[in-house]
Amino acid sequence: MTQYGYGRFQEVYTGLEFERLNNAVGPTGGQILMKNGQRPSSIGIVHCVGSRDVNFHEYCSRVCCMYALKYGHLIKEKVGHDTKVVNFYIDMRCFGKGYEEFYRRLQEEGVTFIRGRPGEITDEALSPAEEGKLVIISEDTLLGKRLRVPVDMVVLCTAMEARQNAPDVARIFGISQGGDGFFLEEHPKLGPMSTATDGIFLAGSCQGPKDIPDAVSMLPAPRVRPWPSPRAARWKSPRPPPGSIPRSVPGARPVSSSAPIRPSSLMNARGSRK
Ligand SMILES: Cc1cc2nc3c(=O)[nH]c(=O)nc-3n(C[C@H](O)[C@H](O)[C@H](O)COP(=O)(O)OP(=O)(O)OC[C@H]3O[C@@H](n4cnc5c(N)ncnc54)[C@H](O)[C@@H]3O)c2cc1C
Ligand code: SF4
Repeated sequence: MTQYGYGRFQEVYTGLEFERLNNAVGPTGGQILMKNGQRPSSIGIVHCVGSRDVNFHEYCSRVCCMYALKYGHLIKEKVGHDTKVVNFYIDMRCFGKGYEEFYRRLQEEGVTFIRGRPGEITDEALSPAEEGKLVIISEDTLLGKRLRVPVDMVVLCTAMEARQNAPDVARIFGISQGGDGFFLEEHPKLGPMSTATDGIFLAGSCQGPKDIPDAVSMLPAPRVRPWPSPRAARWKSPRPPPGSIPRSVPGARPVSSSAPIRPSSLMNARGSRK
């Protein structure tokens, strides 16, 4: 996407690069500074770069609206409350718990939201106010106006993509990829974490773009699901050989097949009745 000048203008960053700039162990020790060491007085944040775009990825990357809000908050806090922060968005997707409230809070903090996808970022100044700045050229679809917004720094909310080596991983584990490149679940509603291969589960953003709460919420699945799955168990050995130890029961001892069944053997590992 050459129109946004990434790689051409040194003050155009991807979301991931800006995350690094904010990090206490990053190159600036967590301070938001331009390459010349000065603090920016205005920052533009461009949403949906490569997402929701038929020329790149049709899907929504789900996380960028919220990290754009997080960046707006951090900029105001770290650089100063008079710093101009302008978001260019198609529509705001603040779907999680407390997210809509955070969006409202950012508006109260003075962050600007312009509905429109910028067409270009240029350094060609048409007025003294644009001299030495990056100019974001966009339409405000709510006002029906064409805008030129001069800023010191630009953050591009780039699309979350499947990793390049996902086909190799899919081949090794015998799982499939969807048309978007992410690993394919067995069923979107009934088996969102299972795959077509028994014993192989999906957790996190390898299945599709996710924020941390959504990624973490998938974690219990591989741990609590029985292995082999009931479907596989029907076809494989249904009964463990005498004397074997079920590995999932902590502290279990081998029980001889001829040993009498005592009430305690009807207890599960936590001591409650099955
Ligand atoms: C710029 C940006 C800002 C974000 N900010 C937020 C935020 O503020 N809050 C929030 O909730 N979410 C945020 N997110 C989303 C968040 O990063 C993801 O939800 C989260 O990282 C998903 O976790 P994961 O474990 O599924 O994947 P990842 O964090 O990507 O972890 C996958 C790991 O697997 C490793 N790996 C991959 N393939 C292989 C392989 N073949 N062999 C060995 N290792 C492999 C990778 O190296 C990586 O370490 C942000 C995302 C971006 C891009
Ligand atoms: S989460 Fe927001 S910025 Fe990211 S692709 Fe979806 S709508 Fe665009």
